[in-house]
Amino acid sequence: MEFSIKTELLQPQNNSSLLIIAAANNNRNNTVIDTLLSQLDQQEKDFLATHTLEQNQLQAVAVARIEEEDYVNIQKLATSVACWAKEQIRIDVDLSLVSKAIVQKWVQAFTIAVGEAVYRFDTLKKDTKPIKLEQVHYYTSQEVNEYLIKAEAIVYGMNICKDLGNAPGNVCTPSYLASTAARIAENVGASARIMSTAELQEMGMNALLAVAQGSTAGAYLIELQYHGAPEADEKPVVLVGKGITFDSGGISLKPGAAMDEMKFDMCGAASVIGAFAAAAKLKLPLNLVAVIPTCENMPSGNAVKPGDVVKAMNGLSIEVLNTDAEGRLILCDALTYAERFQPKAVIDLATLTGACIIALGHVAQGVLGNNQPLIEQLLEAANNINDKTWQLPLFDEYKEQLKSNFADLQNIGGRPAGTITAAAFLSYFTKSYPWAHLDIAGTAWHSGSNKGATGRPVPLLVEYLLQQV
Ligand SMILES: [Zn+2]
Repeated sequence: MEFSIKTELLQPQNNSSLLIIAAANNNRNNTVIDTLLSQLDQQEKDFLATHTLEQNQLQAVAVARIEEEDYVNIQKLATSVACWAKEQIRIDVDLSLVSKAIVQKWVQAFTIAVGEAVYRFDTLKKDTKPIKLEQVHYYTSQEVNEYLIKAEAIVYGMNICKDLGNAPGNVCTPSYLASTAARIAENVGASARIMSTAELQEMGMNALLAVAQGSTAGAYLIELQYHGAPEADEKPVVLVGKGITFDSGGISLKPGAAMDEMKFDMCGAASVIGAFAAAAKLKLPLNLVAVIPTCENMPSGNAVKPGDVVKAMNGLSIEVLNTDAEGRLILCDALTYAERFQPKAVIDLATLTGACIIALGHVAQGVLGNNQPLIEQLLEAANNINDKTWQLPLFDEYKEQLKSNFADLQNIGGRPAGTITAAAFLSYFTKSYPWAHLDIAGTAWHSGSNKGATGRPVPLLVEYLLQQV
């Protein structure tokens, strides 16, 4: 599917569908548009599509009217128009009736919405339906192109994230995640390094290895590097993503219901790979590193047991009281590893706690960290692109819940404030740099008939990275 900006005068073609974007207070001087707008008024709608119009040979004519200019409203309208759009073949978008500010927002929001609407994961099905929509042409000035390029990069990153998230646990294994990440990085001109068990042992990543030891799939640390900054030694942003390709809970086995959804426990890793690839594709002038610890969490005779004490890479000992709180164990060693890059900022992403779903539902992801300016930047990016994110506090008092009689830390803090105590645990490993943690347990995938990875928070990450340049 192809999107493009056309600067010539729009002359509707026989095989195309015309989409007119109107504003709330358009001057009505065009009979076709007048008719459609008055129909919108009568039906009290903001979108109307007709199949054919008698005076020409178009496939369809549709009008979308933007009542309010804020991005949230435009995005909502774009999402409903995208349902119509995916059934067309070629769409010519008339943007001549709206302001430049609306054009920019519409091109961005509609491109992402169409990308979402046409996405499907059918590689494992025998019969697949091809995507009907082939082309979307925006008739406007060339200046808008940067919004189109950005939106296409976001769709590209979201699709990578969704494909990895949706792949089942017997396809998307730790080694598959590692080799796919490396291939994607190489495709966008970045480098990849994959470290396996022996190297992880040498570095003392015993917390990561403890989680992996119950599975035959092994453990890997994936490192991707993209150098785009004009100064080669500019400090990088480091993205760290949790890559548990299947989380059974280990010896602290999860209940059976919806356990299949634990294939999505690598969505932190998937969003990091997607955002990394999008940033490299955009050739952003910054340095970026992705660090992904990956393994399965399985029960077996070799699995880590409740009460076991392991020594993390930074020397702290951890009492594993619940083997299902494994995300923080693999992340803590990855966060220690991130120190070597002397990062400008480290952002980790993880489907970390069910408690985050209790706190924020499936609407917003939680953000916590040790650096308020970094958190503010993320909140601003989230707001700009409407990838909803909400800050939770990280007061020192929460650390009390992590005290162990047998080790420096224990890996769970009880039921109260589960998302915060998980972040408090991570804070012991992030002292040497500005750090933010995004808990995406509620936003990374949909359940039920709509089951599938959402691609979030790739939009937030790309928006944040764009803000850094
Ligand atoms: Zn778990």
